[in-house]
Amino acid sequence: MTDQCYSNSLISINEALENIRAALLPIKDEETVNLHEALDRVLAQSCIAPFHLPAFPNSSMDGYAFNSPDIKNTPFNLEEIGISWAGQPFTGKLSPGQCVRIFTGAVVPAGADSVIMQEQVTVSEKIIHFPNNTQEKQNIRYIGEDVQQDDCLLAAPKQLSAIDLGLLASAGIYEIRVKRKIRIAFFSTGDELRAIGSPLAAGQIYDSNRYSLTALLNNPCYSVTDLGVIKDDKSRIHACLLAAAKSNDVVISTGGASVGDADFIKEILDEIGQVNFWKLAIKPGKPLAFGRIQACHFFGLPGNPISVIATFQQIVTPALRQLSSLNNNTPLRFKAVCQSKLHKQAGRQEFQRGILIQIESGEFEVISAGKQGSNILSASSRANCYIVLAREQTNVEAGTEVLVEPFSLFL
Ligand code: AMP
Ligand code: MG
Repeated sequence: MTDQCYSNSLISINEALENIRAALLPIKDEETVNLHEALDRVLAQSCIAPFHLPAFPNSSMDGYAFNSPDIKNTPFNLEEIGISWAGQPFTGKLSPGQCVRIFTGAVVPAGADSVIMQEQVTVSEKIIHFPNNTQEKQNIRYIGEDVQQDDCLLAAPKQLSAIDLGLLASAGIYEIRVKRKIRIAFFSTGDELRAIGSPLAAGQIYDSNRYSLTALLNNPCYSVTDLGVIKDDKSRIHACLLAAAKSNDVVISTGGASVGDADFIKEILDEIGQVNFWKLAIKPGKPLAFGRIQACHFFGLPGNPISVIATFQQIVTPALRQLSSLNNNTPLRFKAVCQSKLHKQAGRQEFQRGILIQIESGEFEVISAGKQGSNILSASSRANCYIVLAREQTNVEAGTEVLVEPFSLFL
């Protein structure tokens, strides 16, 4: 059986993403930030290592530094002649028969090429007893073994992780050039929508989409403006879109994107801008207008709450990442055995909400999170993954393998 919405006029998600890829140019402007503000920002200029990392040979253990030619086939003794603390090096040089007490991170003194762990020796005053299986050239972190001076420390463009910030800090780099934030404005449309805090009259509902969008747009790469709720009034939506397009890189609306009498988004976009595509073979979703108003990119998302979230994640997120110069935009998906029967008609690619578990053998299993209506927030709230079903797929019998896309890395 075929989805009634199926028609060749619906473009596939891949075609839509391809269209978006061709339409969006990464933002060129850069700004300087310090490391405290840099997490998740996109590095705009590659960073070069100003010195070797590590900058000096140092010990990876608490123990004794010695010179390998002193090793014998039998247990042997060396004389401790000083201490190398982390941050307070031993400044002398070892002669044959000598060793130096050393701690993790301390400079390996001149004349030493190995460190033995303190647990492997016995100590009588200043005489250290080494075992007969003592290994040569152990437990030393060598100059430049991590990064060589003048090598590329981090290549742009790259979204900066906690590890990247540690790497930059270890090289003494505090200020970096990153892509400027993408300016994004969003609003809801609908005569039925009320703001939380005001009483509901007959037929009214609270505007939940702006709260979901606020959360989805909570990203250090975005500078976000919430434009509130706009009535289903063509001239007001028209004015709001024009004004927002002047001062933003991206404008996102929810609702009014379909073909009802109160749905003006596509019509207005046709008049004041350019529509690249309008209807997508995606469920939840379908009416999704993408285009531009002057230099501003526009996404007219559907109104139903779960459609907003799914289309934002599948379509808008890759687009915003591309604007930020990030090219790794394909979500990680993997196979799991579906233990529920899933209802599906051919025609649209579906993102059903599921609950993913890992069984004892390490395999993944998924069940449906419940009702799949695009207005049903509660079932999706219990979900931890999308079950991604291909456009032509029909019902899925329990026990069949499906593709899943987790929402988070924790089960
Ligand atoms: P529309 O696309 O405007 O026809 O809206 C589709 C459905 O989503 C309708 O049931 C709307 O009431 C609902 N809806 C639209 N916008 C919102 C919103 N901001 N918050 C919650 N529900 C909404
Ligand atoms: Mg509406």
